[in-house]
Amino acid sequence: MSLKTGKEYVKSLRKLNLNVYMFGEKIDSPVDHPIIIPSMNAVAATYDLALDPMYEDLMTVRSHITGEKINLFNHVFQSTDDLVKKVKRQRMLGQKTACCFQRCVGQDAINAVYSTSYEIDEKYGTKYLDNITKFIEYIQEEDLVTDGAMTDVKGDRGLSPSAQKDPDMYLRVVERRPDGIVVTGCKAHQTGIVNSHEILVMPTIAMDPEDKDYAVSFAVPADAEGITLIYGRQSCDTRKMEGTEIDVGNSQYGGHEALIIFDRVFVPNNRIFLNGETEFVTILVERFSGHHRPSYACKTGVGDVLIGAAGLAADYNGVAKASHIKDKLIEMTHLNETIYSSALACSYEGYPTPSGAYLIDLMLANVCKQNVTRFPYEMTRLAEDIAGGLMVTQPSEKDLRSPEIGHYVQKYLRGVASVPTENRMRILRLIENLTLGTGAVGYRTESMHGAGSPQAQRIMISRLGNMEAKKELAKKIAKIKE
Ligand code: SF4
Ligand code: FE
Repeated sequence: MSLKTGKEYVKSLRKLNLNVYMFGEKIDSPVDHPIIIPSMNAVAATYDLALDPMYEDLMTVRSHITGEKINLFNHVFQSTDDLVKKVKRQRMLGQKTACCFQRCVGQDAINAVYSTSYEIDEKYGTKYLDNITKFIEYIQEEDLVTDGAMTDVKGDRGLSPSAQKDPDMYLRVVERRPDGIVVTGCKAHQTGIVNSHEILVMPTIAMDPEDKDYAVSFAVPADAEGITLIYGRQSCDTRKMEGTEIDVGNSQYGGHEALIIFDRVFVPNNRIFLNGETEFVTILVERFSGHHRPSYACKTGVGDVLIGAAGLAADYNGVAKASHIKDKLIEMTHLNETIYSSALACSYEGYPTPSGAYLIDLMLANVCKQNVTRFPYEMTRLAEDIAGGLMVTQPSEKDLRSPEIGHYVQKYLRGVASVPTENRMRILRLIENLTLGTGAVGYRTESMHGAGSPQAQRIMISRLGNMEAKKELAKKIAKIKE
């Protein structure tokens, strides 16, 4: 099977029998829902761009399993070149969509599971590498989207999975059968799940031997029996149902998250990649989050759009020549490029795991994501500063189009005389989208919590920072003898 077009991808989604709820009601056809469509468009772009001669180098690669040309999103990294290519792809796709294009969680999940399963097999003689390789081959051949599902709802954060009052706060095995396992639980904040064909589940935190039933990784189709998806609300989401374009800010593209409920879902043996080997959970979690942290180079692509929007707002407001405006745009650029530098650096410093699959440098990946938890916040502050208050107070597109009062909006919301009022309104709404609206989910709060909240990176930075070796360096220079 060859690479799908965006249209073929949408057609393949139509065949899924997803059990999706939004606003308390079951959605009959998610692919036709106005709130969902922009997020589907963003994933469809990852298909179309793979077939675009201008981008195919960045979007495709040869499979190490079959030698066939595949979408890079379904690839197991075989070199530092592959890792670097991923980061560049992330930026390009962020520039094209100005949103979360959702497909990266699956890529980072297959990579983490692949390299970890090799090491589990070595210790226990299990067949997990075989299982995950067959799964990856399947998604490569069919050109499918996989949702990497890690984050459990966690209940009382002070208690381990097996110590929770409600045993389902972390996803777990509730029954073991000769032909497979049955699982129950819930994964939260699941990016792009309604646009995915498959779900690859991983545990979310380090586990002790008594958490055995919670140490489980597997893949199931997104429409498997027992799965319910509850769509997450986003700020300003119902604007997408008003039938206007300007007020949405980014009307073509968007992202989404949802809760995935697993209610006694059956997983056959050949789809299991970890089953009770608790000591490998930490490795799996670290590798997934390690891969996912530089994936946040996506934010530098969105950041490019935000910087451009702020620059246009300055032009349209007639303040582009003011030195403080120029300096704010420089500051935004510096912050954005700093994120990009750390994403590239951890990829260039990548190395092979025993499985042959490449892993990024964990310290630099954590520094990258720590930057992401901060810099987009400063960048949105600067963009709001440059845009002015009208980005949140201007009337609606319907007022602009109104036969009675549209001429007032046209007249009084004009900035520089040569720029149509509508263009100014559009760019201000785009800034609103990225800083406060649906786009802010992906650009702001996801920058904070996606791929791990700030403290998760600080723990890794502390662990990998090698303080004792640094003290020795200082002692030597200061000629301290103890
Ligand atoms: Fe990919 Fe970025 Fe969305 Fe995460 S936030 S899924 S890395 S586009
Ligand atoms: Fe994410």
